[in-house]
Amino acid sequence: MIITFWGNLKALVRPQFRTLESIHYELTRAASLKDIVEALGVPHTEVGRLTVAGKEISFAAPGANNDRLDVYPLCPPVDVSIPTLLRPVPLPSVAFAVDMNVGKLATLLRMAGFDTFYHNDIADPDLVALALREQRILLSKDTDLLKRKEVVFGYLVREIYPEDQLAEVVHLFGLKDQLKPLSRCLRCNGMLQPVAKQQIIAQLEPLTKKYYDSFRQCQGCSKIYWPGSHRDRMLLGLKKYADYHDPA
Ligand SMILES: [Zn+2]
Repeated sequence: MIITFWGNLKALVRPQFRTLESIHYELTRAASLKDIVEALGVPHTEVGRLTVAGKEISFAAPGANNDRLDVYPLCPPVDVSIPTLLRPVPLPSVAFAVDMNVGKLATLLRMAGFDTFYHNDIADPDLVALALREQRILLSKDTDLLKRKEVVFGYLVREIYPEDQLAEVVHLFGLKDQLKPLSRCLRCNGMLQPVAKQQIIAQLEPLTKKYYDSFRQCQGCSKIYWPGSHRDRMLLGLKKYADYHDPA
């Protein structure tokens, strides 16, 4: 069959095929389109649309040697609440499960107010199972993790620096109108609620006590937040995704 990967998927194709416009692929056994795409190096999570002879088709469709397959990347904004041919069961809301290799991104997602699971020593199968069970989008830099068959919604983070990664994810999933800074705990993902200064005054550092009057407290772990506590990094993230472009 003749397979063409489009856009940013070309960079994920196995090196020996990467420079080819189209790949001539000889099927020697029965395989689904998903198996074929992944055998060539591209995790299924990165695919937004598959067509055979111009007709949109699902991952489960069997490959055939006379097929002409086009594989298109995710096209932002990706709305995970809308069913598609590739992912017919949508997610009820945007929530993330973050792999260890992008751990700092987890903190920034929480800073932006997104429901984000992160644990620094969870095994791959457990992380995948949790993402599935809790209907979360799995974010990782590990292509093998994203190729696991149980994964439905996931994304291979391309950027290197955490602030750029936040911009990348916000751009891809079209989330810039859903940011809720100072709504979620960076440590435990719990929700923050306003708390009166008098109630927590004994726990404040002298300068914080002097300069801030508005505080929030985590409902999960009781950690206290105030606007200055992470506003600068948040603003840097905001600035980055205001003029964000897809990585080449
Ligand atoms: Zn907390």
